[in-house]
Amino acid sequence: MHLPDNVSRLCGRERFSFGCHPKVPCFTECCRELELALTPYDVLRLRQELQMTSALFIERFVVVEQDEDDVWPRLYLGMVDDGRASCPFISESGCRVYSNRPGACRAYPVGRGGLLDANGNVREIHVLVREEHCKGFAEPQDHTAAEWFVNQGLIEYNAINDEVLSLLQHEQVRAGLSLTQEQRAAFFVALYKLDEFRTKVSSAAFQNKYLQDKEESGSVLADDLNLLRFGVRWLKEILFTEKV
Ligand code: SF4
Ligand code: SF4
Repeated sequence: MHLPDNVSRLCGRERFSFGCHPKVPCFTECCRELELALTPYDVLRLRQELQMTSALFIERFVVVEQDEDDVWPRLYLGMVDDGRASCPFISESGCRVYSNRPGACRAYPVGRGGLLDANGNVREIHVLVREEHCKGFAEPQDHTAAEWFVNQGLIEYNAINDEVLSLLQHEQVRAGLSLTQEQRAAFFVALYKLDEFRTKVSSAAFQNKYLQDKEESGSVLADDLNLLRFGVRWLKEILFTEKV
């Protein structure tokens, strides 16, 4: 795998020195001029933090891109046009959505990639990104990637992202699946527009077709994370075993 000069593989128990806190001289520098891809779980957490519907959050803060050659749309956080392309959530005192900041912000300076193997297990790949503006590498604390992820509250993010990955890298996708407009819309609603998906799942016709009983529908509708997990299972069913 070819990596840019400032990116290196981080293997197993390899340790790196890094710390980030409001007293570092570069505080908030990393929150500008960045391309910040959002996962479905990032959108879920951010819209909860901002107490907005998913639709409003996406309308206000998200750029959606769909390349003709890509199966899935990509979502990015839209940056502010302030001459420095700043994140909309940055303030002088730091991140305004810190407790629900996106997974990529938590993981930085570690990047985590996942590859689905033939048995459906996710093989993790870690890289370390050293950017000139980031002075955190001069801090004395040292970590492995696994320790850093625990320290940054990433365990839940990684778990649900891996569930989504089992859909994104499904063998039928790798075999060249292409989606209809209707299937694309279903993907977007089930993973990103959870309020709309909740309304859809609440209907008797939907429940009769896709849910076993009242207990299952109660559990799916109980919270956004359950709903998102169900969305992944439902999409696999409608995209890979039946035609919408
Ligand atoms: S969400 Fe918070 S941590 Fe992430 S780029 Fe924006 S301000 Fe920085
Ligand atoms: S140390 Fe790195 S991650 Fe922390 S504020 Fe500075 S640039 Fe951002």
